[in-house]
Formats: sequence, C-alpha cells, structure tokens
Amino acid sequence: TGAGLFDGRQNARGFDLTDAADLARIEAARGPHRGAILDARPLLAGSLAGGLRVGVCNPADGSRVGNVVPATPPDVETALHYALPWEALPEDRAEVLRRAADLFEADFGAIFALLAREAGKTLPDAVGELREAVDFLRYYAAEGEGLRAVPLGTVVCISPWNFPLAIFTGQIAAALMAGNAVVAKPAEQTPLIAAHAVDLLHRAGVPMTALQLLPGEGATVGAALTRDPRVGGVAFTGSTETALAIRRAMADHLDPAAPLIAETGGLNAMIVDSTALPEQAVRDILASGFQSAGQRCSALRCLYLQEDVAETVLDMLFGAMDELALGDPWDLATDVGPVIDAEAQGTIRDWIAAARAKGRVLKELPAPAGGTFVGPTVIRVDGIAGMGREIFGPVLHVATFRAAELDRVIHEIDATGYGLTFGLHSRIDDRVQHIVERLRVGNIYVNRNQIGAVVGSQPFGGEGLSGTGPKAGGPAYLARFCARPAPLTEA
Ligand code: GLU
Repeated sequence: TGAGLFDGRQNARGFDLTDAADLARIEAARGPHRGAILDARPLLAGSLAGGLRVGVCNPADGSRVGNVVPATPPDVETALHYALPWEALPEDRAEVLRRAADLFEADFGAIFALLAREAGKTLPDAVGELREAVDFLRYYAAEGEGLRAVPLGTVVCISPWNFPLAIFTGQIAAALMAGNAVVAKPAEQTPLIAAHAVDLLHRAGVPMTALQLLPGEGATVGAALTRDPRVGGVAFTGSTETALAIRRAMADHLDPAAPLIAETGGLNAMIVDSTALPEQAVRDILASGFQSAGQRCSALRCLYLQEDVAETVLDMLFGAMDELALGDPWDLATDVGPVIDAEAQGTIRDWIAAARAKGRVLKELPAPAGGTFVGPTVIRVDGIAGMGREIFGPVLHVATFRAAELDRVIHEIDATGYGLTFGLHSRIDDRVQHIVERLRVGNIYVNRNQIGAVVGSQPFGGEGLSGTGPKAGGPAYLARFCARPAPLTEA
C-alpha cells in the first residue's frame, strides 16, 4: 500500500470479519436498521412531479424494505433543465468527495443493513462493496485534484443492481470530479441504496444542481436521458445488449463527441491445468463462481479442466459445495444469498432445467424456500462456445480438455468476443505466458480467484463485447469524463 497507482494514499481498511470486536461493532450498528422502511424518490434541483409509489422488497423473504416513487418524463425534463456543471475548483471538489468518503465509512451500519435487505448481499460482500465505494471516492478525488480540464457538461450515470453502492458511487465520483453535472439513474431493483448514497453526497457538499437522482425504469427514464441532446456523455454498467441500445440512441440524438463509457457483460473462463494445486484451484473456483451468488460481471462462467485432473478437482469441488450455506444474507453463516429478483431466478432456473433435461447437470444444491434463491449448480458443457450467453447467477459450466487441445481452448475463449476476466491455474511459467499473451481480456488473474478487483491497484474493465474502457479505478478513467484540457490562460 502507499505506492504505485494509489500514490501515497491507501485503500479503506474495511472490517475484519474474523475479529470479534469488528463483528460486534457491525452488529451494534446495523441492528437498528433491520426493520426500517425507507423511501426513495427523484432528488431534483427543481420541483418533483413524481409517479405512483412502488414497493421495494427483500429478495431473501419478500418482506417490505421500502418504497420508491419512480421518476416520470417531467422529472427527467426537470433534472436536465436544472443540471449545472460543478464549477468549484478541482481541489475543492476533491475535498467534498473525501468528506463523502468519510460519511460513507461512518454510516456502515445503515449501509450494510440496506445492502443485505435490498440487494441480498452477504456481510463479506457488503463490507467489500462499501470499501470499494469509499476507495472510488478517494481515488478519483486524488486523481482529479490537479486536473485542469473542461467537463463534458451533463453526464448520465446508469448503474447496475449488483453493485448498487460501489459502481453507482464510482461512476458519479468520476463524473463529478471532472466537473460535470450528474444525472444518476440507478437500477430499478436498488433505488433505496442509491437514494441513501446521493443523500450522503449532498450532505458532504455536492450541490443539488451537480447531482440529481432519477430512480425508475430503463425503458422510460434511461431511454429518455440517452436520447436528449443536452447530455454530454453517458456512463453505463450493465448488459451488453443495453449498451448497444444506448449507443444507437446516442448516435441518433447526441453530439458525436459525447462518449459512452460502458462496462458490460462477460463470458468469463478459467483454465486449470494438470500442474495446478487442486486445493487452491477449488477454493478459487468456489469464490469465482458462487460468491455474490454468481452475480458479478467478473464471475467465472466456464471452467476448463485438463482431463488428467478433472475428476480430482470436481470431486473436491462438489464436496466443498456441500459445505456452502444458502440463506438469509443477514446471517453471518450465509455464504450464498438470493439472486436479485423472481425474474432473474426464473431465467436461471429455466437454464438449469434445460441442462437437466439433457442430462448435463453434474451437481445441484437445493435452494431454500421463500426467497428468490437458486442452488449453486454445475453443468457439463463441451466448451464455452455452446453457452451462447451469460447466465448471471450461481451456475458454473465445466468442460474438459487434453494437453494437446490447449490452443483450441484459447481460441474458443477468444472467439466469444467477450473479454472481461480470465482465470488461470498453472505452475508452468511458460504456459502462463503463452496463454496470457493470446487472450484479449481486461483482467487476468493467475493462481487466485477472478473476482474482486481493487481500486487503484487492479483497474477493472473489459475488451470487445465486455466494454469500452477505460478501466474503472485506474488512471485513465477520469480523463474520459472531460471534453478537453482547460485553456492555458485559466487560473
Ligand atoms: N469489479 C467487480 C469485480 O472485480 C465486478 C464488477 C461487476 O460485476 O460489474 O468482481
């Protein structure tokens, strides 16, 4: 820490969940928020029109977490009308973002409770997510402090439900730090955590005109924002399909210079060869495939096992899967929480059912009743090519290969067109080098798991169908939110 990209700064400490004192602090702080009913509505610099209130439910048990008033077309108009680039000096903007980071950190009780109840996040995931959000705030503050540049104007930030705090905050922090006005459209599934974060940012000193929130549907709010010529750029994290639709809308309606900064889907593979240490590989396969119930863009989707070790690794993997605890993410014992909603559950279950009908399900854990759970499942496939699309849940696909087929496997992975993360377990340096040189993938992880990129030291983002770059949490990101360097005459 302290050196390199983070340059004298440090990542947030977070919490040590093996430490009794840290755990006690968390329990005391989040307890009071367990039954709270929260509200979210558009947060605008002008007056609110607002629509009908809709309930927000806990995916683990269907209980009410709060209510949201989704934005209407007049609210979109209000937000764009009042949006005003943040004209403070870069060092003053940095100060405000740092203050926001402190507020986020101090508010861990409410945030962990919300992440569990609205997004189904286990405690380790919630701890990691808060840490990442705080890191984004401080990292972009530091990166942008000396930045003299002309902002894009109004930047629309459209963020996903799987990192409703970290990615939501990261996009906004970068856009704000570059001096833009932000209109943020959070995922439909997680408006409460978004409203909470925006409230903290406002309290830290971000002006209302520089940051407005429009919860609502992508098809209405998102679509209206991305075809409005007043918009100077769009940051989007979500599906590749939606990114393409946004690009089309922008091409038709926005200034051709308005950038789309998109981080999209992945069809991520891992190769485990016969020299890998099976115990280590299994631990990393479990984390990569099933942590966060597989709901990370970075998650492992297709595991390639060298034939010689396939049986050993799978036996150990199935044994380890039997130890996974599924259930309420609020419980400390839970390893795998629910998937985000009934629609996601249905899609994943249909996929598993189709594989089962073909006799391809190798292992399936039972799902608890009540919430939108999916039992972690392993499906046999011939290769990644046959998968066709990303299944965003705790489903791992496994193929085997012979040593002589390695180059075919590399080609197959490359030919998907996606390139977000890739994992490799091998103890032969030349082979590692050979594979790594041939794959066009944003984040490659060797002899470890392939999730959980760290702000400042592991910038995150993909190639090809997986995103436009530049990588989030890296040194090139902020510049993309600027139109051009500031004229030299400026003070
Ligand atoms: N940055 C996250 C990771 O490295 C994934 C982000 C995503 O799922 O969009 O695991």
